[in-house]
Amino acid sequence: MAEVKENKNTYPPEPITVTKASLPEFGEYEELIKKLWENRWLTNMGMYHEELKKRLRDYLKVGGAELFVNGHMALEMAVQAFGLSGEVITTPFTFASTTHAIVRNGLKPVFCDIREDDCTIDAEMIEGLITEDTCAIIPVHVYGNICEYEKIDEIAKSHGLKVIYDAAHAFGETVGDMGVGNLGDASMFSFHATKVFNTIEGGAVTWRKDPEGELESKLYKLKNFGITGKEAVEYVGGNAKMNEFCAAMGLCNLRHVDRWMEERKRVFDRYRKNLGRVNGIRFLEPREDQKLNFAYMPVVFDGEIFDRDDVYERLLERDILSRKYFYPCANAYDCYRDFYDAKDTPVALNISKNILTLPIYPELPDESVDLICEIITG
Ligand SMILES: *Cc1c(COP(=O)(O)O)cnc(C)c1O
Repeated sequence: MAEVKENKNTYPPEPITVTKASLPEFGEYEELIKKLWENRWLTNMGMYHEELKKRLRDYLKVGGAELFVNGHMALEMAVQAFGLSGEVITTPFTFASTTHAIVRNGLKPVFCDIREDDCTIDAEMIEGLITEDTCAIIPVHVYGNICEYEKIDEIAKSHGLKVIYDAAHAFGETVGDMGVGNLGDASMFSFHATKVFNTIEGGAVTWRKDPEGELESKLYKLKNFGITGKEAVEYVGGNAKMNEFCAAMGLCNLRHVDRWMEERKRVFDRYRKNLGRVNGIRFLEPREDQKLNFAYMPVVFDGEIFDRDDVYERLLERDILSRKYFYPCANAYDCYRDFYDAKDTPVALNISKNILTLPIYPELPDESVDLICEIITG
């Protein structure tokens, strides 16, 4: 017997994914990579690598930048560059990369709870977690919501701690007039295909001040096996260089990223207009003095009028993929749960069970946003 299919004539004709990689016109990319067939310089800090590094330093309004093969290795090597040992205070409400970068450097993560209204680390709770072994704080500008950096700075200064921001979500953001990548001792950006700005895979470490060029030089060496001269290997580095094909993609995408962020804002505003007054649905509140990049569309359900998992399933039935981002929290992962209790960070635990990120990307039409909102509200 033929399966009776539901009428699929309703919009959308294709599945809607939570994100869609942004690309330049093919010809634009072709033009740049053609040169690579001429000069055969494919990786190891070639001309596109050097040009992208310069352009990103300007675009991000930072003191300096070093490029990497991906955001995760950028973070691992930023942590390594500071020669830390002991405990690192961080947030459990993040992507696996943040916690892993700490552990893979032989350091111990200490989880601090987050703020209800923007999901960033709760700076008020950091001091209570500091011990004589604490060496650093690694906060996350989660969903592009910039942390309470003034308070974090003050705590770090008074206790002699390093601050490294996971700014993977915060590409192109500013607070006041300052590029977000100037905060703390260093910041990591991700240029993964799913991020606002991509180099296919890629990442960077940025900083405000590096007067002797020490940090830049160390990061440059770490990503190239710790090699310091023709016959010298000074550091236990790895291989984390950005290749020329990725750098070329970055140069193309950088031409378009402002327009992409404007389109994302259109989508973001439409969600807020449609769902802003619905009981049982809450939006996060970024700082008022920041520019947001509209990378994500997180919504928090109350668990009574709306059940997160139920909304997720109802969207899925209509071929719309949202994401339980972030669920579970890092302190509940299989690889960490034996050492932590997620109940110690109750706000993060609760939000992880009630948050959903909805589809957002520059080409998402208003009609699709409206449909998603209708399905959510039923
Ligand atoms: C994407 C992401 C990373 C890792 O970046 P990759 O470029 O994928 O290695 C780290 N932290 C957060 C919060 C991220 O979203």
